[in-house]
Amino acid sequence: MGKVLVIGAGGVASVAIHKMVQNSDVFEEIMIATRTKSKADALKEKLDGKGAVIHTAQVDADQTGDLIDLMMDFGPDVVVNLALPYQDLTIMEACLATKTDYVDTANYEPKDEAKFEYSWQWNYKKRFEAAGITALLGTGFDPGVTGVFSAYALKHQFDEINEIDILDCNGGDHGYPFATNFNPEINIREVSAPGSYWENGNWVHTKPMEIKRHYDFEGTGVKEMYLLHHEELESLGVNIPGIKRIRFFMTFGESYLTHLKVLENVGLTSIEPINYHGQEIIPIQFLKALLPDPASLGARTIGKTNIGCIFKGKKDGIEKTYRLYNVCDHQECYKEVGSQAISYTTGVPAMIGAALVMTGKWKKPGVYNVEEFDPDPYMDLLNQWGLPWVEDFNPTLVD
Ligand code: NDP
Repeated sequence: MGKVLVIGAGGVASVAIHKMVQNSDVFEEIMIATRTKSKADALKEKLDGKGAVIHTAQVDADQTGDLIDLMMDFGPDVVVNLALPYQDLTIMEACLATKTDYVDTANYEPKDEAKFEYSWQWNYKKRFEAAGITALLGTGFDPGVTGVFSAYALKHQFDEINEIDILDCNGGDHGYPFATNFNPEINIREVSAPGSYWENGNWVHTKPMEIKRHYDFEGTGVKEMYLLHHEELESLGVNIPGIKRIRFFMTFGESYLTHLKVLENVGLTSIEPINYHGQEIIPIQFLKALLPDPASLGARTIGKTNIGCIFKGKKDGIEKTYRLYNVCDHQECYKEVGSQAISYTTGVPAMIGAALVMTGKWKKPGVYNVEEFDPDPYMDLLNQWGLPWVEDFNPTLVD
């Protein structure tokens, strides 16, 4: 069917590319372009001859001009940004210059500000409309599948959704005292930030990890989870009519939280540059260099993830609750694509989002979040490509 340019060759990109190769009727040619070309070459070596034709290139995705040159040369139908949130805007600019569709999994975050929100990317809406190209934002698991679950629940189960609780549980164990399951810098910035939730049209702010709850997750058992700010709260607050409250909870183990507290207390999670023996160092980037590469955790991670949403609303005037979730096994993912489940549960939806744009099912000029499209084809593809979902019509609620 067409050509895809994937930017990045880390944990998430590796899974998305494995799945694109399996889906080579849609992705006939794949260009993997990233900062460290050897990582793209290693993927090509592993996957060559298994489906799609694979090319590799070195690119600095902070440089719009370099991206435009690469895109003019390769001529992709869609660009899938699996680098870091810092690169979202430079890649969107290059897509505008070359009239190419754009897909990502995380909203823009300035490097020097611990803040992420959609406003920067939503501001591109008119320019994408005028150029006749689609930007599909946030097609990972959360954001991503959680937004599709919300659109599906609204379409098939409710007349009105009033409350959504998104629960992200990782019951996996990698055996290290401290490691992050996706890019350490982005992960630590996210979990050390103040929390917040959406209520009656306003943000309610909390201290980091201030709100704690328990939940008994299928496949992992009872876990402690903490309320975090998360990007899909912002888009679902706008896109789900009648919504009154949206919260996001993520599970963390005791060891992770203790290490994080110590690292914070000694200043190693700071994004403020310091001068060390004449060289400028950003502490959190130095810490990233010390920590295990998330892409290397696959072989040693055991256990399962359980991620999904609990909905509360009304159908035919009657109050109703409903839950949708997926359980994913770290070792099963490793057997299939050589990665742990966090990369898997993000990389598969990235491939699915790109496939829906590529095949025209989710193609509409402008900038959109996943919940703004028809959820049905996406839900079918989740079952088909390794992330089957489960419905619960009598879910335990979170107080
Ligand atoms: P990794 O750090 O493993 O991979 C990032 C890749 O991007 C690396 O190959 C890196 O190159 C490359 N890269 C970074 N900067 C540049 C640049 N300037 N130019 C070109 N390439 C660059 O991260 P993950 O795979 O864990 O995460 C990828 C994305 O997925 C992130 O944006 C993350 O926030 C998002 N994510 C989304 C989730 C969701 O559910 N929605 C969940 C988990 C992650 P190099 O090898 O040189 O470092």
